[in-house]
Amino acid sequence: MSTFQTIKGTFDILPDPAMSSSAFAYGTAAWQHVEATLRDVLARFNFSEVRTPILEPTELIARGIGQLTDIVSKEMFAFTRGDTNYVMRPEITAPVMRAYLQHHLDQRGGVQKLYYIGPCFRAEEPQKGRYRQFHQFGVEVIGSDDARADAETIAVMMAVYKAFGLTNTTLRLNTLGDAESRPRYKAALQAYFEPYRQDLSETSRTRLDTNPLRILDTKDERERTLLADAPHLIDFVDAESRAHYEEVKQLLNDLGLVFVEDPFLVRGLDYYSRTAFELESPDLGAQSALGGGGRYDLLSVEVGSKKPVPAVGFASGMERLFLALEANEVTLPGTPSPDVFLVALGDRARRRVFRMAQELRDAGFKVALDLRGRSMKAQMREANRQNAPFTIIVGDNELEQAQAPVKNMETGEQTEVAFADLRNYLRDHVT
Ligand code: AMP
Repeated sequence: MSTFQTIKGTFDILPDPAMSSSAFAYGTAAWQHVEATLRDVLARFNFSEVRTPILEPTELIARGIGQLTDIVSKEMFAFTRGDTNYVMRPEITAPVMRAYLQHHLDQRGGVQKLYYIGPCFRAEEPQKGRYRQFHQFGVEVIGSDDARADAETIAVMMAVYKAFGLTNTTLRLNTLGDAESRPRYKAALQAYFEPYRQDLSETSRTRLDTNPLRILDTKDERERTLLADAPHLIDFVDAESRAHYEEVKQLLNDLGLVFVEDPFLVRGLDYYSRTAFELESPDLGAQSALGGGGRYDLLSVEVGSKKPVPAVGFASGMERLFLALEANEVTLPGTPSPDVFLVALGDRARRRVFRMAQELRDAGFKVALDLRGRSMKAQMREANRQNAPFTIIVGDNELEQAQAPVKNMETGEQTEVAFADLRNYLRDHVT
């Protein structure tokens, strides 16, 4: 029997990605660095982290995101156990809204500014930048319908990419209007496309009947030319939403955030209203969206709230961020190295070195040592492989003298240091 492999569309993140070509191209140290940078930016914007379960009630996702979306209609990893329907969350906005309502966070007064980082699951056809288990980070600003909440959500998203030096991006912006705007627009789109029904792809023909807004996402060249004369959503949007949109644009201008208006940007999820935005990178190929979001004033009621709760947020893909960093040749930390590698010769030395490792670790150093009783040569090779800047070599002589040579692996220089002084020596030399 051959060994087990990761499931299609999922991947391992190893300490050193060079260990395997089938693991993710960045290792855990790079992930931790990216996550730390993210948390730092999000904290500056006064967001707090929320962690919700991977498993959610299927109904929450189905009602929240909408039955007719691709996610709910064909991409959910869902199962039933007993009389409970579980789904492995395909996104984290509906779960955060569930948490907000469940814990009555509205009663805390003010606006809740929450962020998350975590895995999501969608049964999509895997390709570059599209996986079945992937990671999203994002924010939700819950409890304000003010245009500043929208602008701040966009600003924090832009700040994240800027923190990584990723400024070669396009921010696309649109407004979806209120609950009535979309049905009006849907009807107008249906009327527009109906005469071309025979020219549409099979998918678009189905969408024409069920969810014509999705035709606007088409990649089909012929359909794209049809879009040229299609009605624009903005012409069906209510006056209040238009004023809100104008304010969001003004605020973005005030912050010097550049955007392009895209009349066909509708986003794939049903819960959006008013502001919709997407951030694209030219470096990502077919899956060009780094992230996106918008206002979702309609979600709370969809998932059971008696009164509507205004909210806005964005969600971004971690893997796409890595792809953009790779394309822009941004260097990220590789595997962390120990401060020192302890080399032991003979049984007595091995016992002493084992204790020495503990002492140095207690003193705060990162210490590596051989765990297989290998030869000195093999231990030195291992120290090199692990990029240890120093080795301490201990044999019978060193035990007798209670001192050992500390070797600087870069210069080859060796200094005799008494066991009792090792901590001080390392403290002065390890950077
Ligand atoms: P969505 O929730 O569909 O708006 O997605 C938000 C962001 O998550 C996208 O812009 C991508 O960066 C990322 N994303 C969505 N689906 C996937 C996937 N299957 N694999 C990797 N990243 C994804």
